[in-house]
Amino acid sequence: MSHKDILKAAGLTEAELEGGMLAVHSPIDGAEVARVRETDPAEMPKVIAKAQAAFREWRKVPAPRRGELVRLLGEELRAAKAELGAVVTLEAGKITSEGLGEVQEMIDICDFAVGLSRQIYGLTIASERPGHRMMETWHPLGPCAIITAFNFPVAVWSWNTALALVCGDPVIWKPSEKTPLTAIATMKVMQRALKRFGDAPEGLCQLVIGGPAIGEALVNSKDVPIVSATGSTRMGGIVGPKVSARWGRPILELGGNNAMIVAPSADLDMAVRAIVFSAVGTAGQRCTTLRRLIAHNSIKDDLVARLAKAYASLPIGDPRKATTLIGPLIDHGARDRMQAALEKARAEGGKVHGGKTVAEGVPQGGAYVEPAIAEMPEQTDTVRTETFAPILYVLGYDTLEEAIAIQNDVPQGLSSCIFTLNVREAETFLSSVGSDCGIANVNIGPSGAEIGGAFGGEKETGGGRESGSDAWKGYMRRQTNTINYSDALPLAQGVKFDI
Ligand code: NAD
Repeated sequence: MSHKDILKAAGLTEAELEGGMLAVHSPIDGAEVARVRETDPAEMPKVIAKAQAAFREWRKVPAPRRGELVRLLGEELRAAKAELGAVVTLEAGKITSEGLGEVQEMIDICDFAVGLSRQIYGLTIASERPGHRMMETWHPLGPCAIITAFNFPVAVWSWNTALALVCGDPVIWKPSEKTPLTAIATMKVMQRALKRFGDAPEGLCQLVIGGPAIGEALVNSKDVPIVSATGSTRMGGIVGPKVSARWGRPILELGGNNAMIVAPSADLDMAVRAIVFSAVGTAGQRCTTLRRLIAHNSIKDDLVARLAKAYASLPIGDPRKATTLIGPLIDHGARDRMQAALEKARAEGGKVHGGKTVAEGVPQGGAYVEPAIAEMPEQTDTVRTETFAPILYVLGYDTLEEAIAIQNDVPQGLSSCIFTLNVREAETFLSSVGSDCGIANVNIGPSGAEIGGAFGGEKETGGGRESGSDAWKGYMRRQTNTINYSDALPLAQGVKFDI
């Protein structure tokens, strides 16, 4: 199928593909596939006002009924999985199975949120006063802006949207300017669900397209109480303080620098498989991509040799081909940044395996690279920096304490793991003196989280939590209620105030 046919199959019209100035390129071959109309910044107050109007209606709809809309969205996503997955592959360059996997993640979070819509509950708390009862109730908070990165062009929207909708909040989505087409295709699916639902308020789910300026309109508006922003630490450093300064609630999902500790007792066959998937999957462009391998000195050389062998046979190329495991980087800028990082690593004493540009056997025009392994003498500045490409830095260690110190000694705190068969080591890694990340795993890589758990990380990763567990609380306001059913008015802490 041609690029155009893939987009048309997902419901995009000629007017949507040709109506504007924002050029969209496919990372597969660098071809321009569309010129999309950007939202005029002058339209933003209207967009936000529409979301506020929708909020006034949607907050009155019972949560299980709100869940019905998300159930229908899940149904529509199931029906559209192949077409939408193909657009993810076309626009973000993910291999076919990962493009489909991303849509599956959207379906999974819809299922989760439907159940949640009947489980939004608060606590009942013992009161110190006779004839009194205390409880917590959870209420919708208001419009939620969703600013997303190119590398999960649709899943991140669904994590936020499925929860926000059942929590009673309208959403306004600003996708990455590199991936507006997947967003337009997703909104078609949403529109079908809204139509079947029948009486959802207009403006419940909106899409705005453009770069940082459009994002800023959401970031700066007091009428957008929640801003969920996914992207680089640089972006989060701008967005977070601005939202906080106007007393909004930021949910930040920023860069990672994820590590795996491989202990002497580890099952190395399993470790190698986990390392390869986590380090080169999505061409190293996941926030949870494995970027640092901290291997015990007694097994490090063996492990690197095995990895170098596995890397040599990885099929790199057209992400639409069923046999491909490594597709293109998002663009040539990403490839240049990868080359620059490898150059710096070499200058810092690193020994680099692989990492070259691939020009043979791949579609011309795309940015294809061999994944790289860089054995480093220590954790240098380059290792501490997230380069969004398939570079795996390797460091050695002697004691677990040292390994954990290396693991934690980076600015980011998203995902981490240990491979060990030693229960003391595993439990220490998960304990208060272990990994400082939002995600810590044992005998499984750092990437590819399930939606059932809360997703997010500490330090420069931003501290936000999305998806499963009780992440829904981030989309609601908590109210503490004290009810007096006695005929007296006792004050707390025994305070006397007789009048
Ligand atoms: P990016 O920071 O360049 O852009 C992300 C989004 O922020 C885009 O929509 C962009 O238009 C918007 N943006 C940029 N500046 C803004 C501003 N001043 N105000 C408002 N919006 C602004 O990131 P990217 O290159 O698209 O994505 C890669 C990065 O995202 C990596 O660092 C990766 O680790 C991170 N990421 C994190 C998670 C997570 O859950 N922690 C998930 C996916 C990606």
